[in-house]
Amino acid sequence: MNYSQTLLIVDDCTEDRETYRRYLLKDQQQSYCILEADSAEEGLSLCHKVACDVILLDFQLPEMNGLEFLDELRKTHHTLPVIMLTAFGDEAIAVQAMKTGAQDYLAKNHLKSDILQLAVRSVLERSHLQTQLKKTQERQRVIATIALRIRQSLDLEQILITAILEIQHLLNCERVVICRYESAANNLLNIDWHSLSVKEQKVCYQLNSEDNRHRLAAICEVGSNNGRSNGQISKSINTNLEIPIIVGSFNQSKPIPWGFLVVYQYSKSRQWHLEEIEMLQEVSVQLALAIQQAELLSKTQVALEEEKKLNALKSQIIATVSHEYRTPLAAILAAASTLKLHGEQLESIKQQRFLQLIENKSRYMSRLVDDMLTLSRFEQQKADFNPIPLDLPQFFASLVEEYRQNTNQHQISLKQTGNFEGFRADHKLLKKIFDNLLSNAVKYSPDGGKIDINLIGQASQILVQIQDEGIGIPEDEQSSIFQSFRRGSNIDTIPGTGLGLSIVQASIELHGGEVLLKSQSGKGTQVTVNLPKHLRQE
Ligand code: ATP
Ligand code: MG
Repeated sequence: MNYSQTLLIVDDCTEDRETYRRYLLKDQQQSYCILEADSAEEGLSLCHKVACDVILLDFQLPEMNGLEFLDELRKTHHTLPVIMLTAFGDEAIAVQAMKTGAQDYLAKNHLKSDILQLAVRSVLERSHLQTQLKKTQERQRVIATIALRIRQSLDLEQILITAILEIQHLLNCERVVICRYESAANNLLNIDWHSLSVKEQKVCYQLNSEDNRHRLAAICEVGSNNGRSNGQISKSINTNLEIPIIVGSFNQSKPIPWGFLVVYQYSKSRQWHLEEIEMLQEVSVQLALAIQQAELLSKTQVALEEEKKLNALKSQIIATVSHEYRTPLAAILAAASTLKLHGEQLESIKQQRFLQLIENKSRYMSRLVDDMLTLSRFEQQKADFNPIPLDLPQFFASLVEEYRQNTNQHQISLKQTGNFEGFRADHKLLKKIFDNLLSNAVKYSPDGGKIDINLIGQASQILVQIQDEGIGIPEDEQSSIFQSFRRGSNIDTIPGTGLGLSIVQASIELHGGEVLLKSQSGKGTQVTVNLPKHLRQE
């Protein structure tokens, strides 16, 4: 049996009212709570006081007829179903009654219990279906509007703000928060999230989090938190509604719990209706779609940006190779053909000079290729990084020795203070860093210039300062001098490609350290490198 419906009989004839009541109470399929009114005035007043589901209306009332009653009723109750009853069985009245908004028409003199029961039941059913349809249409309209507004932006922050403002407006609630898991855990990907309740999902998430990386963080909210602590989900909240946001269920990829949509009501307890919950679930689906699109777009943009950078680097490499290779290659070619054509006539000292030139130029070209490959590996984040325990003073002693042997025009001094124990670094990269810095100090200083190297070992890091008395770097060029292919405007004819410092910086960053530059044009340059003793990546 269906739940009880409230039916109002408006008829001035007591016997008729009694008959209808008897007929209807006999109905096995439907139960009624029956109200009666013996006049139009009382009927209309009852309609205002009680929520009726259907009215049985006598056409011939003393003070107004059924059509006039309907007119009056429709001013306030637009959809309340009415079945008109009349003693005349007049077709014209029936048509008029239906036009005025009655749902059915029955002739009083032929009325039987089963006819009345069926008529009331079908009117009620139709009215129920119409109400449902209206609600569904309204819900679809609201969701479509929200979805459209959410999807109008591809910017994640904008999407979240729009969504919470729409939800607050839609549900008329005090606060809406979107929380996001701080990171998704791979071990959660095989779970069928849709089969779990919100509570189960949360428990599952916590159980699977070996550390607190997967905490929920409120990332977007609107409304007052009524003095409650800094946006965290508080247990003292009267009524809140939590809907999970799960991304990835719309395409082939596995659903991933992204976060939660939380709607709060503090001031009074609130019973959430099923439609409100369903509506919020649909909004959450739309939100998840928009989030996924926005994240995809931002990933694509990052990839495009990377691609652009790589392309620019490739073009630079091609330009540098063609430019920087031309001169040494021409020199090698000239030296080689001279040796081939006139080698036998040349004195051996001259032969040696040509061979030395070929060797030097080839070394230069080979270093250039090496540098460019190293740089491109850094750009693609494919650089090798194998830190090992390193004796820094020993490392510098042999580096300086190498330089002293090659350049006896400079006075290189090496000092050290502090403790270097526990220092770890990638040997190859460390060699690149200080080879470049020392070669710069030598290259950009006049012959006879002093170069001071100062090693300082501290508790958690080491510092290396390299000071020269060379040409310096113009002040306005210092901030960009670490970019690849950048060279100072004061270098004159000193050879170089502008790759050294960018390799230095990338290698230091890989160690988690930093490089600082102090320089004065014409006075000298001081480069300070600090490297942590204990590497974070390990
Ligand atoms: P290479 O790639 O062969 O090292 P390079 O020395 O020109 O070429 P970087 O080492 O990257 O390239 O240095 C970039 C620029 O910074 C140099 O061209 C120079 O103008 C300036 N520079 C670097 N170190 C010094 C220094 N110690 N004194 C003066 N200028 C310097
Ligand atoms: Mg250099």
